[in-house]
Amino acid sequence: MKITTITAKLILAFCLSFAIVRAQDKSPDRIAVTAKRMIDVRTGKEITDAVILVEKNRITGVGSNLRIPDSAQIIALGDVTLLPGLIDAHTHLLHQYYSKYGDDNSNRILEMTQLGPAKRAMLGVRLAREMLDAGFTSVRDLGNSSVNADIALRDAINSNDVAGPRMFVSTRALSPVGGQFQSVTPEAQHLLNQEYVQISGTEEARRAVRQAIYDGADCIKVIVNSGSRRLSVEEIKVIVEEAKRANLPVAAHATDGDGPSMIAAEAGVSSIEHAYTISETVLALMAKKNIFLVPTDAAGVAKYQERIKRALKAGVRIAIGSDIYYEFSGMTRGQVSVGMYKTYLASGMTSIEILRAATINPAELIGNNSIGSLEVGRFADIIAVKGNPLTDISVLEGVVFVMKDGKVYKK
Ligand SMILES: [Zn+2]
Repeated sequence: MKITTITAKLILAFCLSFAIVRAQDKSPDRIAVTAKRMIDVRTGKEITDAVILVEKNRITGVGSNLRIPDSAQIIALGDVTLLPGLIDAHTHLLHQYYSKYGDDNSNRILEMTQLGPAKRAMLGVRLAREMLDAGFTSVRDLGNSSVNADIALRDAINSNDVAGPRMFVSTRALSPVGGQFQSVTPEAQHLLNQEYVQISGTEEARRAVRQAIYDGADCIKVIVNSGSRRLSVEEIKVIVEEAKRANLPVAAHATDGDGPSMIAAEAGVSSIEHAYTISETVLALMAKKNIFLVPTDAAGVAKYQERIKRALKAGVRIAIGSDIYYEFSGMTRGQVSVGMYKTYLASGMTSIEILRAATINPAELIGNNSIGSLEVGRFADIIAVKGNPLTDISVLEGVVFVMKDGKVYKK
């Protein structure tokens, strides 16, 4: 009896030590993510029985039924579709308006006077997490962040103090005098410098870009027009020249007719934002100069949808941006933002075109070749959705798994 007990204990101890050794065999740095299918956004092909091998924060293997090394931890997701993490080409993560406070201008004044950089960054902590949960692993954040609060949030995310998407930030937007504010009294106008760098003349434009570079910007945002207040083509050309010298792309806000878009296209910016009313002439110039259109369409407006069709026809590439900055009651910023993709079906884009405009196109616009696709050498920014986005793009609204930089944030 006694011998049997000792034998049993020895067997148990042996099994336990074996199990511990086996567990130690699994490297925390090696992960295999498996799923029923995956979309290669570059080719538009569907890969079944998908396996993505990850080592530390990079993808080391992608394919169907790949052999999984014994040392890899397996994350078996089952009947889902793997996609590269979404990239929102136009966000404002340190900026939130509330309809109860009135229109844009009333909100703008309240935000400027009541939220300094610290409070803005804290707001951004929540909104960044909400974006990541919805499947956005990178964002291009374009101003309205007070003075360099976007830099603080970006750096906190990069050093893992805060969970959020990789942020590519502009610091304050360069703008005509008055920024995007409407009527502000002369006594209060000095406050506008919290929100915009107001420029007048080419040397002020040059100085503003150099300041943004010094502050740590990843891109430059320029407000070509605020209503009828416009920058000139000479000013934007200098902005582009200075930004290019530092390898930074230039995002140009242009609305109200064709004039501001034409100024931006002539000056050779990297992307034109909004451009709700844009002519064939400007679209042709954008195609020729490889300038991206970043539409920020929330819902179906016939004339906006029609401009997307004209842009596609002209050969202009599209990187989709949400530009969400109002609070939607009961929904997170991520949930609201990810709802935008289905809008583009009615604008004549196919599902794969939408997926590209949500991944590889913004990656190229940002100028980072480690994001935007599930390919060997890229960052392990992987999401999963139920269903197949090639047949139903709205499945992007239900992201069930998020990995960023090799780390799982949602499962
Ligand atoms: Zn915007």
